[in-house]
Amino acid sequence: MSLASRLICAGCDTALSPQEARPFCCPRKDAGDDVDHVLGIELDLEGDAFPEADDPDPFVVFRKLFHSYRFARRKGVEDAEFVARVREIDRALAETDGRSFRFTPLVRSRELESAAGIANVWIKDETGNVGGSHKARHLMGIALHLAFAQEAGRELSISSCGNAALGAALVAKATGRPLKAFVPPAADALVLARLEELGTRVVACERTPELPPGDPCTHRFRADVAGGALPFSVQGSDNALSLEGGRTLVWEMVSQFKESSMPLPDNVVIQVGGGALGSSFVQGFETALQLGAVERLPRFFFVQTEKLHPLERAWRRLTEDAYAAAGESPGKRSNAEHAAWWLEHREDEEVRRVWRGARRRRSRYMQPWKTAPKSLATGILDDETYDGFVLLDALIRTGGWPLLASEEGLSRSQELADVAGIPACATATAGLAGLLALDEATGFEDQGWAVLFTGERR
Ligand SMILES: [Zn+2]
Repeated sequence: MSLASRLICAGCDTALSPQEARPFCCPRKDAGDDVDHVLGIELDLEGDAFPEADDPDPFVVFRKLFHSYRFARRKGVEDAEFVARVREIDRALAETDGRSFRFTPLVRSRELESAAGIANVWIKDETGNVGGSHKARHLMGIALHLAFAQEAGRELSISSCGNAALGAALVAKATGRPLKAFVPPAADALVLARLEELGTRVVACERTPELPPGDPCTHRFRADVAGGALPFSVQGSDNALSLEGGRTLVWEMVSQFKESSMPLPDNVVIQVGGGALGSSFVQGFETALQLGAVERLPRFFFVQTEKLHPLERAWRRLTEDAYAAAGESPGKRSNAEHAAWWLEHREDEEVRRVWRGARRRRSRYMQPWKTAPKSLATGILDDETYDGFVLLDALIRTGGWPLLASEEGLSRSQELADVAGIPACATATAGLAGLLALDEATGFEDQGWAVLFTGERR
Protein backbone atom coordinates (compact mmCIF):
# COMPACT_ATOMS: atom_id res chain seq x y z
CA MET A 1 0.00 0.00 0.00
CA SER A 2 0.97 3.62 -0.46
CA LEU A 3 1.59 5.65 2.68
CA ALA A 4 0.84 8.94 0.94
CA SER A 5 -1.76 11.23 2.50
CA ARG A 6 -2.26 14.93 2.98
CA LEU A 7 -4.82 17.55 3.90
CA ILE A 8 -6.06 20.01 1.34
CA CYS A 9 -8.43 22.97 1.66
CA ALA A 10 -11.71 22.51 -0.21
CA GLY A 11 -12.16 26.30 -0.34
CA CYS A 12 -8.80 27.57 -1.64
CA ASP A 13 -6.95 24.37 -2.66
CA THR A 14 -4.01 25.05 -0.31
CA ALA A 15 -2.32 21.72 0.45
CA LEU A 16 -0.55 21.23 3.78
CA SER A 17 2.81 19.54 4.02
CA PRO A 18 2.16 15.81 4.61
CA GLN A 19 4.52 16.08 7.61
CA GLU A 20 2.69 19.03 9.21
CA ALA A 21 2.49 18.42 12.97
CA ARG A 22 -0.74 20.46 13.28
CA PRO A 23 -2.75 19.60 10.15
CA PHE A 24 -5.97 20.95 11.61
CA CYS A 25 -7.04 24.05 9.68
CA CYS A 26 -6.28 25.84 6.44
CA PRO A 27 -3.49 28.38 7.03
CA ARG A 28 -5.62 30.95 5.19
CA LYS A 29 -8.75 30.47 7.27
CA ASP A 30 -8.57 33.96 8.79
CA ALA A 31 -7.96 35.70 5.47
CA GLY A 32 -11.40 37.34 5.67
CA ASP A 33 -11.99 36.49 2.01
CA ASP A 34 -15.45 34.89 2.43
CA VAL A 35 -14.00 31.54 1.36
CA ASP A 36 -15.05 28.44 3.31
CA HIS A 37 -11.62 27.20 4.37
CA VAL A 38 -12.19 23.61 5.51
CA LEU A 39 -9.57 20.91 5.04
CA GLY A 40 -10.34 17.52 3.57
CA ILE A 41 -8.24 14.36 4.00
CA GLU A 42 -6.74 12.99 0.79
CA LEU A 43 -5.40 9.42 0.75
CA ASP A 44 -3.51 7.67 -2.03
CA LEU A 45 -5.57 4.46 -2.28
CA GLU A 46 -3.71 2.96 -5.23
CA GLY A 47 -3.38 -0.78 -4.60
CA ASP A 48 -5.47 -0.68 -1.39
CA ALA A 49 -8.44 -2.91 -0.66
CA PHE A 50 -11.27 -2.24 1.79
CA PRO A 51 -10.00 -3.65 5.13
CA GLU A 52 -11.26 -6.97 6.46
CA ALA A 53 -12.97 -6.67 9.85
CA ASP A 54 -10.43 -8.97 11.53
CA ASP A 55 -10.38 -7.21 14.91
CA PRO A 56 -13.13 -5.98 17.24
CA ASP A 57 -11.59 -2.48 17.37
CA PRO A 58 -12.44 -0.19 14.42
CA PHE A 59 -9.32 1.91 15.04
CA VAL A 60 -7.22 -1.21 14.44
CA VAL A 61 -9.26 -2.52 11.50
CA PHE A 62 -9.34 0.77 9.55
CA ARG A 63 -5.97 2.20 10.60
CA LYS A 64 -4.51 2.16 7.10
CA LEU A 65 -7.20 4.62 6.01
CA PHE A 66 -6.08 7.21 8.58
CA HIS A 67 -3.83 10.14 7.77
CA SER A 68 -2.49 9.73 11.33
CA TYR A 69 -1.36 6.16 10.58
CA ARG A 70 0.35 7.12 7.34
CA PHE A 71 1.92 10.18 9.02
CA ALA A 72 3.33 7.97 11.79
CA ARG A 73 4.56 5.30 9.38
CA ARG A 74 6.31 7.90 7.25
CA LYS A 75 8.10 9.00 10.40
CA GLY A 76 9.40 5.46 10.90
CA VAL A 77 6.77 4.13 13.32
CA GLU A 78 6.11 0.40 12.79
CA ASP A 79 2.62 -0.95 12.15
CA ALA A 80 2.75 -2.96 15.40
CA GLU A 81 3.68 0.15 17.36
CA PHE A 82 0.63 2.01 16.03
CA VAL A 83 -1.65 -0.91 16.91
CA ALA A 84 -0.07 -1.14 20.38
CA ARG A 85 -0.82 2.58 20.94
CA VAL A 86 -4.48 2.07 19.97
CA ARG A 87 -4.78 -0.84 22.40
CA GLU A 88 -3.09 1.11 25.17
CA ILE A 89 -5.57 3.99 24.82
CA ASP A 90 -8.42 1.47 24.65
CA ARG A 91 -7.33 -0.16 27.90
CA ALA A 92 -7.17 3.22 29.63
CA LEU A 93 -10.67 4.05 28.32
CA ALA A 94 -12.05 0.74 29.56
CA GLU A 95 -10.65 1.48 33.01
CA THR A 96 -12.25 4.93 33.25
CA ASP A 97 -15.45 4.48 31.25
CA GLY A 98 -15.99 0.72 31.33
CA ARG A 99 -16.15 0.85 27.51
CA SER A 100 -13.59 0.88 24.74
CA PHE A 101 -13.84 1.23 20.97
CA ARG A 102 -15.64 -1.75 19.46
CA PHE A 103 -17.83 -2.17 16.38
CA THR A 104 -21.22 -0.86 17.52
CA PRO A 105 -24.44 -2.75 16.69
CA LEU A 106 -26.26 -2.37 13.40
CA VAL A 107 -29.83 -3.42 14.07
CA ARG A 108 -33.25 -3.59 12.54
CA SER A 109 -36.34 -3.49 14.74
CA ARG A 110 -39.56 -4.85 13.25
CA GLU A 111 -41.42 -3.37 16.22
CA LEU A 112 -40.07 0.10 15.46
CA GLU A 113 -40.79 -0.27 11.75
CA SER A 114 -44.34 -1.34 12.39
CA ALA A 115 -44.94 1.45 14.96
CA ALA A 116 -43.41 4.08 12.65
CA GLY A 117 -45.07 2.74 9.51
CA ILE A 118 -41.74 2.76 7.66
CA ALA A 119 -40.14 -0.42 6.35
CA ASN A 120 -36.50 -1.42 6.08
CA VAL A 121 -34.95 0.94 8.63
CA TRP A 122 -31.43 0.07 9.75
CA ILE A 123 -30.15 1.64 12.95
CA LYS A 124 -26.49 2.11 13.76
CA ASP A 125 -26.61 2.19 17.54
CA GLU A 126 -23.89 4.33 19.12
CA THR A 127 -25.47 4.53 22.58
CA GLY A 128 -23.00 1.98 23.97
CA ASN A 129 -19.91 3.65 22.54
CA VAL A 130 -17.18 5.23 24.68
CA GLY A 131 -18.77 8.07 26.68
CA GLY A 132 -22.23 6.95 25.51
CA SER A 133 -22.07 8.56 22.06
CA HIS A 134 -20.28 8.68 18.70
CA LYS A 135 -18.35 11.81 19.71
CA ALA A 136 -15.39 9.97 21.23
CA ARG A 137 -14.68 8.42 17.82
CA HIS A 138 -13.98 11.86 16.36
CA LEU A 139 -11.60 12.66 19.22
CA MET A 140 -9.80 9.32 19.08
CA GLY A 141 -8.89 10.17 15.47
CA ILE A 142 -7.19 13.38 16.63
CA ALA A 143 -5.59 11.70 19.66
CA LEU A 144 -3.90 9.11 17.43
CA HIS A 145 -2.29 11.82 15.36
CA LEU A 146 -1.11 13.65 18.51
CA ALA A 147 0.34 10.40 19.86
CA PHE A 148 2.86 10.43 17.03
CA ALA A 149 3.30 14.19 16.58
CA GLN A 150 4.78 15.18 19.92
CA GLU A 151 5.96 18.46 18.42
CA ALA A 152 2.29 19.51 18.02
CA GLY A 153 1.98 20.46 21.72
CA ARG A 154 0.12 19.14 24.76
CA GLU A 155 -2.85 21.13 26.00
CA LEU A 156 -6.25 20.32 24.52
CA SER A 157 -9.26 22.59 24.16
CA ILE A 158 -12.90 21.96 23.18
CA SER A 159 -16.16 23.84 22.92
CA SER A 160 -19.22 21.69 23.55
CA CYS A 161 -22.48 21.43 25.43
CA GLY A 162 -22.36 17.79 26.41
CA ASN A 163 -21.49 14.53 24.68
CA ALA A 164 -18.48 15.89 22.81
CA ALA A 165 -16.92 17.33 25.97
CA LEU A 166 -17.50 14.03 27.72
CA GLY A 167 -15.91 12.06 24.89
CA ALA A 168 -13.04 14.54 24.83
CA ALA A 169 -12.50 14.28 28.59
CA LEU A 170 -12.32 10.48 28.41
CA VAL A 171 -9.91 10.38 25.48
CA ALA A 172 -7.80 13.21 26.98
CA LYS A 173 -7.51 11.34 30.25
CA ALA A 174 -6.68 8.08 28.47
CA THR A 175 -3.85 9.82 26.63
CA GLY A 176 -2.62 11.80 29.66
CA ARG A 177 -3.33 15.28 28.28
CA PRO A 178 -4.89 18.24 30.10
CA LEU A 179 -8.22 19.46 28.65
CA LYS A 180 -10.15 22.71 28.88
CA ALA A 181 -13.87 22.62 27.94
CA PHE A 182 -15.85 25.76 27.04
CA VAL A 183 -19.50 25.04 27.81
CA PRO A 184 -22.77 27.03 27.98
CA PRO A 185 -23.91 27.94 31.51
CA ALA A 186 -26.96 25.68 31.10
CA ALA A 187 -24.95 22.56 30.24
CA ASP A 188 -26.23 19.29 31.74
CA ALA A 189 -25.26 19.12 35.41
CA LEU A 190 -24.50 15.39 35.24
CA VAL A 191 -22.10 15.95 32.35
CA LEU A 192 -20.41 18.84 34.16
CA ALA A 193 -19.92 16.76 37.29
CA ARG A 194 -18.39 13.94 35.27
CA LEU A 195 -16.07 16.38 33.45
CA GLU A 196 -14.77 17.67 36.79
CA GLU A 197 -14.28 14.10 37.96
CA LEU A 198 -12.21 13.38 34.86
CA GLY A 199 -9.98 16.37 35.59
CA THR A 200 -11.26 18.65 32.82
CA ARG A 201 -11.08 22.41 33.41
CA VAL A 202 -14.62 23.60 32.70
CA VAL A 203 -15.20 27.21 31.59
CA ALA A 204 -18.84 28.38 31.41
CA CYS A 205 -19.43 30.94 28.65
CA GLU A 206 -22.33 33.42 28.81
CA ARG A 207 -24.00 34.69 25.65
CA THR A 208 -23.46 38.46 26.04
CA PRO A 209 -24.35 41.34 23.67
CA GLU A 210 -20.69 42.45 23.42
CA LEU A 211 -19.67 39.21 21.72
CA PRO A 212 -19.92 38.91 17.93
CA PRO A 213 -22.79 36.75 16.59
CA GLY A 214 -22.34 33.02 16.94
CA ASP A 215 -21.75 30.63 19.80
CA PRO A 216 -19.82 32.26 22.72
CA CYS A 217 -18.22 28.89 23.58
CA THR A 218 -16.85 28.69 20.04
CA HIS A 219 -15.44 32.24 20.34
CA ARG A 220 -13.68 31.46 23.62
CA PHE A 221 -12.43 28.11 22.32
CA ARG A 222 -10.98 29.70 19.18
CA ALA A 223 -9.19 32.33 21.27
CA ASP A 224 -7.71 29.55 23.39
CA VAL A 225 -6.49 27.76 20.26
CA ALA A 226 -5.03 31.00 18.90
CA GLY A 227 -3.13 31.15 22.21
CA GLY A 228 -1.51 27.78 21.54
CA ALA A 229 -3.95 25.09 22.76
CA LEU A 230 -4.65 22.13 20.45
CA PRO A 231 -8.16 22.12 18.94
CA PHE A 232 -9.63 18.90 20.36
CA SER A 233 -12.76 19.70 18.44
CA VAL A 234 -15.47 17.62 16.86
CA GLN A 235 -15.96 20.27 14.14
CA GLY A 236 -14.14 19.63 10.89
CA SER A 237 -13.70 23.37 10.43
CA ASP A 238 -11.62 23.56 13.64
CA ASN A 239 -9.85 20.25 13.26
CA ALA A 240 -10.13 18.26 10.05
CA LEU A 241 -8.70 15.19 11.76
CA SER A 242 -11.94 14.84 13.74
CA LEU A 243 -13.31 13.33 10.53
CA GLU A 244 -10.81 10.46 10.62
CA GLY A 245 -12.48 8.81 13.56
CA GLY A 246 -15.96 9.82 12.41
CA ARG A 247 -15.45 7.92 9.17
CA THR A 248 -15.00 4.64 11.05
CA LEU A 249 -18.78 4.71 11.61
CA VAL A 250 -19.41 4.39 7.87
CA TRP A 251 -16.73 1.81 7.37
CA GLU A 252 -18.16 -0.28 10.19
CA MET A 253 -21.58 -0.13 8.55
CA VAL A 254 -20.16 -1.09 5.17
CA SER A 255 -18.36 -4.05 6.80
CA GLN A 256 -21.45 -5.13 8.71
CA PHE A 257 -23.67 -5.10 5.61
CA LYS A 258 -21.00 -6.97 3.68
CA GLU A 259 -20.73 -9.58 6.39
CA SER A 260 -24.48 -10.14 6.55
CA SER A 261 -24.70 -10.19 2.71
CA MET A 262 -27.42 -7.55 2.96
CA PRO A 263 -27.50 -4.68 0.47
CA LEU A 264 -26.70 -1.27 1.91
CA PRO A 265 -29.79 0.94 2.14
CA ASP A 266 -29.95 3.51 -0.64
CA ASN A 267 -30.88 6.32 1.74
CA VAL A 268 -28.91 7.62 4.68
CA VAL A 269 -30.52 10.08 7.11
CA ILE A 270 -28.19 11.97 9.43
CA GLN A 271 -28.84 14.65 12.02
CA VAL A 272 -26.72 17.76 11.65
CA GLY A 273 -25.47 20.26 14.19
CA GLY A 274 -22.02 21.52 13.27
CA GLY A 275 -21.95 19.02 10.41
CA ALA A 276 -18.89 16.89 11.25
CA LEU A 277 -20.88 13.67 11.56
CA GLY A 278 -22.53 14.23 8.19
CA SER A 279 -19.24 15.25 6.63
CA SER A 280 -17.54 12.13 8.06
CA PHE A 281 -20.29 10.05 6.46
CA VAL A 282 -19.95 11.66 3.06
CA GLN A 283 -16.17 11.33 3.06
CA GLY A 284 -16.27 7.81 4.51
CA PHE A 285 -18.62 6.67 1.76
CA GLU A 286 -16.40 8.31 -0.86
CA THR A 287 -13.42 6.30 0.42
CA ALA A 288 -15.51 3.10 0.43
CA LEU A 289 -16.55 3.87 -3.16
CA GLN A 290 -12.94 4.46 -4.23
CA LEU A 291 -12.03 1.10 -2.70
CA GLY A 292 -14.90 -0.64 -4.49
CA ALA A 293 -16.64 -1.59 -1.23
CA VAL A 294 -19.85 0.17 -2.32
CA GLU A 295 -21.22 0.63 -5.82
CA ARG A 296 -22.39 4.21 -5.42
CA LEU A 297 -22.95 6.89 -2.82
CA PRO A 298 -26.26 6.60 -0.97
CA ARG A 299 -28.82 9.39 -1.22
CA PHE A 300 -28.13 11.66 1.74
CA PHE A 301 -30.73 13.44 3.85
CA PHE A 302 -29.56 15.84 6.56
CA VAL A 303 -31.84 16.64 9.46
CA GLN A 304 -32.08 19.81 11.53
CA THR A 305 -34.86 21.01 13.82
CA GLU A 306 -37.71 23.26 12.70
CA LYS A 307 -36.39 25.74 15.28
CA LEU A 308 -32.86 26.14 13.88
CA HIS A 309 -31.77 25.11 10.40
CA PRO A 310 -28.84 27.03 8.89
CA LEU A 311 -28.02 24.20 6.48
CA GLU A 312 -31.57 24.05 5.14
CA ARG A 313 -31.50 27.84 4.71
CA ALA A 314 -28.22 27.60 2.78
CA TRP A 315 -29.58 24.82 0.54
CA ARG A 316 -32.72 26.83 -0.21
CA ARG A 317 -30.77 29.95 -1.14
CA LEU A 318 -28.28 27.98 -3.25
CA THR A 319 -31.19 26.28 -5.01
CA GLU A 320 -32.82 29.65 -5.77
CA ASP A 321 -29.51 30.98 -7.13
CA ALA A 322 -29.11 27.91 -9.32
CA TYR A 323 -32.61 28.30 -10.82
CA ALA A 324 -31.92 32.01 -11.44
CA ALA A 325 -28.61 31.18 -13.16
CA ALA A 326 -30.46 28.69 -15.38
CA GLY A 327 -33.12 31.32 -16.21
CA GLU A 328 -35.82 29.29 -14.49
CA SER A 329 -38.15 29.89 -11.58
CA PRO A 330 -38.33 27.42 -8.66
CA GLY A 331 -42.12 27.77 -8.79
CA LYS A 332 -44.06 25.57 -6.42
CA ARG A 333 -41.87 22.52 -6.74
CA SER A 334 -41.49 20.19 -3.76
CA ASN A 335 -38.09 19.50 -2.18
CA ALA A 336 -38.01 16.12 -3.93
CA GLU A 337 -38.55 17.93 -7.24
CA HIS A 338 -35.79 20.44 -6.43
CA ALA A 339 -33.43 17.57 -5.65
CA ALA A 340 -34.31 15.88 -8.96
CA TRP A 341 -33.76 19.21 -10.75
CA TRP A 342 -30.27 19.45 -9.21
CA LEU A 343 -29.44 15.93 -10.40
CA GLU A 344 -30.47 16.84 -13.90
CA HIS A 345 -28.87 20.28 -14.10
CA ARG A 346 -25.90 20.33 -11.75
CA GLU A 347 -23.36 20.02 -14.54
CA ASP A 348 -24.98 22.68 -16.77
CA GLU A 349 -22.40 25.42 -17.08
CA GLU A 350 -24.31 28.26 -15.37
CA VAL A 351 -25.65 26.02 -12.59
CA ARG A 352 -22.29 24.43 -12.02
CA ARG A 353 -20.73 27.87 -11.61
CA VAL A 354 -23.19 28.72 -8.81
CA TRP A 355 -22.76 25.36 -7.10
CA ARG A 356 -18.98 25.20 -7.33
CA GLY A 357 -18.59 28.87 -6.47
CA ALA A 358 -20.67 28.68 -3.27
CA ARG A 359 -17.65 27.97 -1.05
CA ARG A 360 -16.16 31.25 -2.15
CA ARG A 361 -19.29 33.20 -1.23
CA ARG A 362 -19.63 31.67 2.20
CA SER A 363 -21.60 34.44 3.92
CA ARG A 364 -24.25 34.46 1.21
CA TYR A 365 -25.21 30.93 2.21
CA MET A 366 -24.01 30.28 5.74
CA GLN A 367 -24.53 32.73 8.58
CA PRO A 368 -24.91 32.22 12.31
CA TRP A 369 -28.55 31.76 13.35
CA LYS A 370 -29.66 34.99 15.04
CA THR A 371 -31.68 33.52 17.89
CA ALA A 372 -30.92 30.74 20.36
CA PRO A 373 -34.13 28.68 20.33
CA LYS A 374 -34.87 25.74 22.58
CA SER A 375 -35.51 22.26 21.28
CA LEU A 376 -35.60 18.71 22.58
CA ALA A 377 -32.61 18.03 20.33
CA THR A 378 -30.19 20.16 22.35
CA GLY A 379 -27.11 18.64 20.74
CA ILE A 380 -27.77 19.88 17.19
CA LEU A 381 -28.55 23.53 17.91
CA ASP A 382 -25.26 24.81 16.49
CA ASP A 383 -25.52 28.40 15.27
CA GLU A 384 -23.81 27.45 12.02
CA THR A 385 -23.31 24.25 10.08
CA TYR A 386 -19.53 24.58 10.13
CA ASP A 387 -18.97 21.67 7.72
CA GLY A 388 -22.01 22.70 5.68
CA PHE A 389 -20.55 22.96 2.20
CA VAL A 390 -19.50 19.31 2.11
CA LEU A 391 -23.09 18.49 2.99
CA LEU A 392 -24.57 20.80 0.34
CA ASP A 393 -22.35 19.14 -2.26
CA ALA A 394 -23.52 15.72 -1.11
CA LEU A 395 -27.20 16.72 -1.36
CA ILE A 396 -26.72 18.07 -4.86
CA ARG A 397 -24.73 15.06 -6.07
CA THR A 398 -26.90 12.34 -4.57
CA GLY A 399 -30.40 13.77 -4.97
CA GLY A 400 -31.23 14.20 -1.29
CA TRP A 401 -32.50 17.27 0.54
CA PRO A 402 -32.57 18.74 4.06
CA LEU A 403 -35.31 17.57 6.41
CA LEU A 404 -36.70 19.47 9.39
CA ALA A 405 -37.73 17.62 12.53
CA SER A 406 -40.63 19.02 14.56
CA GLU A 407 -40.65 18.88 18.36
CA GLU A 408 -43.52 16.36 18.14
CA GLY A 409 -41.43 14.30 15.74
CA LEU A 410 -38.44 14.41 18.10
CA SER A 411 -40.60 13.28 20.97
CA ARG A 412 -42.14 10.52 18.83
CA SER A 413 -38.70 9.35 17.66
CA GLN A 414 -37.68 8.85 21.29
CA GLU A 415 -40.78 6.72 21.90
CA LEU A 416 -39.87 4.70 18.81
CA ALA A 417 -36.34 4.22 20.16
CA ASP A 418 -37.94 2.79 23.30
CA VAL A 419 -40.00 0.45 21.13
CA ALA A 420 -36.73 -0.75 19.62
CA GLY A 421 -35.29 -1.11 23.11
CA ILE A 422 -32.57 1.49 22.58
CA PRO A 423 -32.45 4.22 25.24
CA ALA A 424 -31.39 7.08 22.94
CA CYS A 425 -31.82 10.80 23.64
CA ALA A 426 -33.76 13.22 21.40
CA THR A 427 -30.62 14.50 19.68
CA ALA A 428 -29.64 10.91 19.01
CA THR A 429 -32.96 10.05 17.36
CA ALA A 430 -33.28 13.32 15.41
CA GLY A 431 -32.40 11.49 12.18
CA LEU A 432 -35.42 9.25 12.64
CA ALA A 433 -37.52 12.33 13.48
CA GLY A 434 -36.41 13.77 10.15
CA LEU A 435 -37.45 10.59 8.39
CA LEU A 436 -40.88 10.85 10.03
CA ALA A 437 -41.15 14.35 8.52
CA LEU A 438 -40.53 13.00 5.03
CA ASP A 439 -44.16 13.05 4.01
CA GLU A 440 -43.68 13.51 0.31
CA ALA A 441 -44.17 10.50 -1.90
CA THR A 442 -40.58 9.83 -2.84
CA GLY A 443 -40.65 6.40 -4.41
CA PHE A 444 -37.56 5.59 -2.29
CA GLU A 445 -39.44 3.61 0.33
CA ASP A 446 -38.41 0.18 -0.88
CA GLN A 447 -34.74 1.01 -1.05
CA GLY A 448 -34.16 1.12 2.67
CA TRP A 449 -33.02 3.67 5.20
CA ALA A 450 -30.02 3.93 7.48
CA VAL A 451 -30.31 6.13 10.56
CA LEU A 452 -27.99 6.72 13.48
CA PHE A 453 -28.91 6.64 17.13
CA THR A 454 -25.93 8.73 18.15
CA GLY A 455 -26.05 8.78 21.95
CA GLU A 456 -27.61 7.46 25.13
CA ARG A 457 -30.35 9.11 27.17
CA ARG A 458 -29.09 10.22 30.56
ZN1 LIG B 1 -8.22 27.47 2.49
